[in-house]
Amino acid sequence: MARYILALDQGTTSSRAILFDRSGAPIARCSRPFRQIFPQPGWVEHDPEEIWESQLAAAREVLREGAIDPRQVAAIGVTNQRETTVVWDRRTGRAVGNAIVWQCRRTAPICDQLWAEGWEPRIRERTGLLLDAYFSGPKVRWLLDSLPEGQRRAEAGELAFGTVDSWLLYRLTGGQVHVTDYSNASRTLLFDITRLRWEPEILQRLDLPEALLPEVRSSSEVYGYTEASLFGLPIPIGGIAGDQQAALFGQGCFDPGMAKNTYGTGCFLLMNTGPQPIRPSGGLLTTLAWGINGTVEYALEGSVFVAGAAIQWLRDQLGILGSAGESEGLACSVPDTGGVYFVPAFVGLGAPHWDMYARGLLIGLTRGTTRAHIVRAALESIAYQSRELVACMERDAGVRLSMLRSDGGASANDFLMQFQADLLGVPVERAAVAETTALGAACLAGLAVGFWRDRGELVASRRAGRRFVPQMDEKARVRLIQGWEEAVRRCAGWADRGLQSL
Ligand code: ADP
Repeated sequence: MARYILALDQGTTSSRAILFDRSGAPIARCSRPFRQIFPQPGWVEHDPEEIWESQLAAAREVLREGAIDPRQVAAIGVTNQRETTVVWDRRTGRAVGNAIVWQCRRTAPICDQLWAEGWEPRIRERTGLLLDAYFSGPKVRWLLDSLPEGQRRAEAGELAFGTVDSWLLYRLTGGQVHVTDYSNASRTLLFDITRLRWEPEILQRLDLPEALLPEVRSSSEVYGYTEASLFGLPIPIGGIAGDQQAALFGQGCFDPGMAKNTYGTGCFLLMNTGPQPIRPSGGLLTTLAWGINGTVEYALEGSVFVAGAAIQWLRDQLGILGSAGESEGLACSVPDTGGVYFVPAFVGLGAPHWDMYARGLLIGLTRGTTRAHIVRAALESIAYQSRELVACMERDAGVRLSMLRSDGGASANDFLMQFQADLLGVPVERAAVAETTALGAACLAGLAVGFWRDRGELVASRRAGRRFVPQMDEKARVRLIQGWEEAVRRCAGWADRGLQSL
């Protein structure tokens, strides 16, 4: 009887493979980096062949390292960097050019044009997304335009578009399936998240023929089998979800109102809102969390642009930290920031402020300010920004968060987790299994093949991580938040005031 699920976690900078056992424990892991290609400022590409080869190599290696016979693998689950766009030739199975990565800004002019034509409200209403260069649709347009006879070939059905999940499934199955799941489809700017179909008017405006598009399936079902030559025998592929949605699933956020925050370079906060989409007010996104057992569930999503990156900045630019981990001890060496606030608006501010002209600010400095105060203020800024997203979500969804689940590199910081719990006034529970994204993909695949019976079994076997319980009194919390809000007000619009030229 097969004893493991193999999760393929295709990220922005590396392709990872992790084996999970029936208890949900990771028993072996392997990671392969691949090239980041920057052809010009603001452009980011990956070579789709490298994505595939690094992912396949990681999968083979994890089996070898764990000394696992592929017959022991019940199913494969795939999770992926979202929005990154690949177009390939159906005949040769080869990509027609590099993948355009989610971070790439080259399609900003296409988005500007759509804004100018008044498409923004309709796109927001149908897709739940903001009209922004992050998302896939305009990237597909750009790729077709860059190709000799691209449009004609697309219309003739010679080409296929997919996000990275589709691309991997196509290659894993030897070209047998061209599918994606609801969570990935909902990041393309082309998918109607209420009617659950490709949006005909947006497709028409971008001149993208249906023949290009993958079939949209649930996030947990057997889509096909790996080509026998890859692992020596066919293995069912049973789960697909974009990385953030996979993490939400891996964190066991199955009920409306449950949320997770991933503390990495930036933060990604997702809240399960159940079977109805919530229309956000403050610049959050509405997204499909997953489709499973014939229904879909939705999530609200918000992100903090600069979170762990503020700690990197203190380490690499200011040189006042030797390592990110050192920040915890320093922050705890002082009782508070001594009135210092640090707003790391290096690239402007996202939800709920949406001020692209805001810039970073360090305020409240006195002769007594030490690097410990500044480091503490930087860690606190991660929690303040996350709290603002939680507040928006609670307002939009009309629910009160009862607990926040956390993961990501910076969630290792106990001070940050405690301060986050204090600011939210609800417990923060850190994931016991750090690889929540891969775990989510594994759970989706395992459910599809009966490796796990149902979500109840997943909940029952879930190992709780450390729980941080709020300790701060209400008055202190309110006062701190007021200080933060005042600091944020003072950094607003800075880059727009022509002050740099004085
Ligand atoms: P990503 O997946 O976005 O690259 P990770 O989840 O690997 O990020 O987390 C790395 C980020 O977390 C870095 O920005 C780093 O500064 C921050 N970080 C890592 N460890 C700590 C720590 N102990 N305290 C605070 N920040 C940390």
